[in-house]
Amino acid sequence: MEEIIVTAEGQLSATVLQHSEWPRNYGPLSPFNAHAWFTGPCGDTMEFWLWIEDDRVAEIGFTTDGCGPSRAAGSMASELALGKRPAEVARIEQADVLAVLGGLPKDSEHCALLACNTLKAAAQDFGGRKADQPRDCQSCEQANCPAHKQRQDESEEEFRRRQHLDHKMCQIGHKLLILSGKGGVGKSTVAANLAVSLTLAGKSVGLLDVDIHGPSIPQLMGLEGQRPTMHESEIAPLDIGGNLKVMSIGFLLGGPEDAVIWRGPLKFGVIRQFLGEVDWGPLDYLVIDSPPGTGDEPLSVAQLVGEGAGAVLVTTPQELSVADVRRSVSFCRKLSLPVVGIIENMSGLVCPHCGGRIEVFKSGGGEALAREMNVPLLGRIPIDPRIVECGDLGVPYIHRFADSDAATAFAGVVERILGSTSTKAEGN
Ligand code: ADP
Repeated sequence: MEEIIVTAEGQLSATVLQHSEWPRNYGPLSPFNAHAWFTGPCGDTMEFWLWIEDDRVAEIGFTTDGCGPSRAAGSMASELALGKRPAEVARIEQADVLAVLGGLPKDSEHCALLACNTLKAAAQDFGGRKADQPRDCQSCEQANCPAHKQRQDESEEEFRRRQHLDHKMCQIGHKLLILSGKGGVGKSTVAANLAVSLTLAGKSVGLLDVDIHGPSIPQLMGLEGQRPTMHESEIAPLDIGGNLKVMSIGFLLGGPEDAVIWRGPLKFGVIRQFLGEVDWGPLDYLVIDSPPGTGDEPLSVAQLVGEGAGAVLVTTPQELSVADVRRSVSFCRKLSLPVVGIIENMSGLVCPHCGGRIEVFKSGGGEALAREMNVPLLGRIPIDPRIVECGDLGVPYIHRFADSDAATAFAGVVERILGSTSTKAEGN
């Protein structure tokens, strides 16, 4: 029986302690011909570099920003991989790492999983890669496409990551960033119903939720508790039929507290990895439920999604949210992100008895703002208590109440978006 030592990180076996204090193969490797990095739901990022010669792992390097158990798991996984064929490396499992380490504290076992997943992705990265050369992107034939050119301030690794992301985004016709000046104005509700409405208009659509502090798309779409699958080291979005694929950062978080502990650069890393690793395939539209506000998080999303994206701003009619949206319009302008238009949500209430419109809040704020800022008003969605009920039940409102006033308003929004985005495509 192995000796157990009590430390600040829990009860650790002597092997774990040794590998956490003196991790084997620690540090990046150069040259390398296979590489991957992964940020786990715990927020730790692990990175593996392999040098594969004669179909065997000849050298290996890894880094992690996690603590002792994370270093121990990476160290042991790297030892297990040395000398193995890439296909064998890809089969190293969490249980194998835990077994040779003599176990990890329960709340650190995920470190072994993160190590194996990253190692597996690195082994898979080997296939087809030319040693140490940036891969050329074949997505389009535009000579001036930013994916072809390494920027001066970019390392080769950063260039390859950006190229990978650009290649993904390039297969998507239109990216709609759904933004709001603050939370609670119905941004996620609009994103979900907009995505469904676009599929009803015959488009193939992806719905992506990167609202890391409040991912509500799983709840709104009735997908809570689902886990996406991995396919050749990429995340496969949930294909829920009817031409709609869904991916939420909420599927990967243990709980809301997970995101809170991430530091700024880590959040950027998570968002970037998330955008780059989801295998959407070709899509007509990607509807992105962004974090609210005009801070670092929506900024990261806007910068990463890059070319060909447009912003849809959601507001409620009151003066306060309108002021927030004014900031959002300025935010988009600073980023040269075109504003597709504004949606005024919770705009009046349609009386269920007489069908007359009751203006609960002061209305028309979104409309006035659209005029003031010279951006289109895409529509006014009335308050309908059944929207809340559908959200709680996880059923898209637009499906359940297709004949309602709010559904008609959504249809009008979609018509305007289709008109505006097809005009842009023709103009390109
Ligand atoms: P956000 O993403 O901006 O934080 P949500 O989409 O989560 O906002 O919506 C906040 C709450 O408002 C939810 O309970 C949602 O069901 C409700 N809601 C959104 N739009 C409407 C509407 N037009 N009518 C009634 N309730 C709405």
